Order: sequence, then structure tokens, then C-alpha cells
Amino acid sequence: MKDFNAANEIQDLQYFGEFGGVNPSISDSSTYTFLSAKTMFDTFEGNAEGCYLYSRHSSPMNLYLAQALAKLENTAAANVTASGMGAITTVLLQLCKSGDHIISSRTIYGGTYAFLKNFLPPFQIETSFVDINNFEAIEQAIGPKTKVIYCESVSNPLLEVADLRKLGTICKKYNLKLVVDNTFSPLSISPALFGADIVIHSLTKFINGSSDTVGGVYCGTQDFIDATKNVNSGACMLLGPTMDSLRSASILKNLRTLHIRVKQHSHNAHYLAERFEQDGLKVSYPGLASHRHHELLKNMMHSEYGFGGILTLDAGTTEKANELMELMQTENLGYLAVSLGFYKTLFSCSGSSTSSEIPEEERLSMGISDGLIRFSIGLDHDIDRTYQRMKACMIKTGVLITR
Ligand SMILES: *Cc1c(COP(=O)(O)O)cnc(C)c1O
Repeated sequence: MKDFNAANEIQDLQYFGEFGGVNPSISDSSTYTFLSAKTMFDTFEGNAEGCYLYSRHSSPMNLYLAQALAKLENTAAANVTASGMGAITTVLLQLCKSGDHIISSRTIYGGTYAFLKNFLPPFQIETSFVDINNFEAIEQAIGPKTKVIYCESVSNPLLEVADLRKLGTICKKYNLKLVVDNTFSPLSISPALFGADIVIHSLTKFINGSSDTVGGVYCGTQDFIDATKNVNSGACMLLGPTMDSLRSASILKNLRTLHIRVKQHSHNAHYLAERFEQDGLKVSYPGLASHRHHELLKNMMHSEYGFGGILTLDAGTTEKANELMELMQTENLGYLAVSLGFYKTLFSCSGSSTSSEIPEEERLSMGISDGLIRFSIGLDHDIDRTYQRMKACMIKTGVLITR
């Protein structure tokens, strides 16, 4: 995988502002003038390359950001949306119509789960939830109406890794689309290299990295992106989850430091995970040899970016987890908040927050225990100092018992 380096690809993309600015000019318009009425007609028909019509369809800044993200994911094109869910729902509604069937990993983001489980069935789109690394079960679930296999490359919050090579092969064999949410592993995993047809990100997380906006993107072939923007039948054009161009400008600027941030998040998370494991805590991190998908991830990732910034720790009970998180927040070790990819560590109890859409029984059977804390590790300068102070909190709350 040495031949593809997304950071270089993004770096080589240059666009200057109107007056030679080092950043592209922000176009602050919802509509665009035409010199001739004929060109306006052609633009509606999709035949006027380079012309803008109306910003729900496309705008210069959204196209700049989309191009950079297409480079990131090694796809021909991309389209940015107002949120990660805006990207996920657009893609699935574009690919699936009434009567169609989806196969999805059962360990996915709570919002995606709720969309597949509750929102789509009234439209006669059914989903089979499977263990994404049980290929036999996946092949058994495939029927004549199956259109999509959906998964997260590294899952939320359990950090299960999907074997994208195998899934890519299955999708080719049965002519299905492989849709991969790569929010947890930007730069480190390139799903398109393994056969993913569409790669999705919640830009809200690592890619923007400053917890000041929501945003999303889907990356795929030019034909697919164009289809979603078609004025007559495109899911994005007609549902309208468009990103505001001021926001795409700020996200593009944050994207410039993604490679540096990802390395630091990974370094810090790896450091803490190793120490916590040595201390005897129930920690899960794909960089640890004890993680059941450690080797699988190693075989798919661009190693320079590390194993990511997310780890989970089982505090035993919800009460203990809450006590620990409140104390860590008081000690300024991070914030008790959902989301991820911030400069500061964020922690939340998955079962009672971002995975609360999943019924308790299913949650437990997946391994999301009541005391499971998800940490998004920050960009701390001195991670050993952070470790010592976190450990003190764990001892004080009885999450870590020392003799
Ligand atoms: C946050 C998240 C989403 C949803 O993104 P929004 O920007 O909040 O709409 C989807 N998938 C994963 C893995 C996420 O972490």
C-alpha cells in the first residue's frame, strides 16, 4: 500500500483565491447568474460543465472540499453534506428503493442503526444485521433484492475491524455495493483500495477536528456522485442535506493538519492503552496485540498513522463509569462529551449515549457493557503526565484497585 499516500495527494492539490489568496475564495452565494438563457437551460440538463446553478446542487467551495476528500479516499469524486447522517442517508436512499435489502454490520453508529432498523422498513427497505466478519452468515443473508453491504472500517464504539478485502470480494461476486463508513480511521485505512464502492465520513469528527461543526462526505465514482445530484432523481439534490459553503471553507483549512493530528491522537491513545493494560484495566484498543482484530487492522492500515485515537475502557458499572468521567473532567483531563477527534480528550458512556438507540439486550449481546467508556484521546503534549493523572482518578474511584 506504499504506492498510495493520501496526505501527499491532498498536499498536491492547489487552488488559489480570486486575488491570489493562499486559500480559495469563499463563494457566498446561493444562486448564480448566466450570460445567456441557453446556458441556464443546459446547466439544468446537466450539460454545462463548470457552471454553477444553485448552491443546493453545488458551489465552488463545496467542490474544492469534495475534491480534497476524494483525494483522501482515492475515489474519482465526492460530495459534501451538512452532517455525517446526511451523507449516510443520501447514499442509502440513492442505492436502495422500495423492496430492496441491505446487509449491515450490527456494530455501527447508533444513528445509522436507528435509520436502518426503524426509519427504512416503512419504506419497504429491510436490513439484515450480521456479525460483519462472519462471511458465511453474510453470504447466507444475500438475496435477489440485496443491494448493499454496509459497515464501518473500525466500528463505533467496539473498535471491531471489518475485513474490507473479503467484503470487497463478496460484493464483486454478488454485484453488490460495498459502503464503508471510515469516520474512525481517516488516512490510516483507504477502503477504496480494497474494493469499497462508496466511502463515507462524518467530517464532524477527526477530519474537521475542532468540534465546531457537523459535516459529512460520501466519496465514489463520478457517475454515482452525479446521480445523487441529479435534479430529477438525486437523493442529495432532492432531500437537500447541503453543506454551507462557509463551513466547507473552514473544514478544508482544518483538513490541512489531519495527518499531523492523526499521528498524535494515535500515539497518545496507544501509550495510554498499553499502560492501562499493564495496570490490569479492561481496555480495548486495536493497537494492542490482545485486540482480536489487531492483525487484521495491521494488514489493512497505512502504518505511519498508527491505530487511531479511540480506546474503550470497561469501568464495570454505569455508576463507576460516571464517577470516573466526572472526576476526570474536574481534573481537567478531558470533557464528558460525545463525539471524537477533538484536541482535548472526550469521554462518554456508550450504552447511555451514542449507542442508546440500540436496545439494551442487543447492546449487551454485542459487547457494549453498561460501564463501557469510549475515550477519544486528545492531542496532549505530555501523555505520560496525562496517564499518571488518569491513573490517580481510576484509583480514587475504585475503577483500578491496587494492592
Ligand atoms: C458521528 C458519526 C456519524 C454521524 O455523523 P454526524 O456528523 O453526527 O451526522 C456516523 N458514523 C460514525 C462512525 C460516527 O462516529
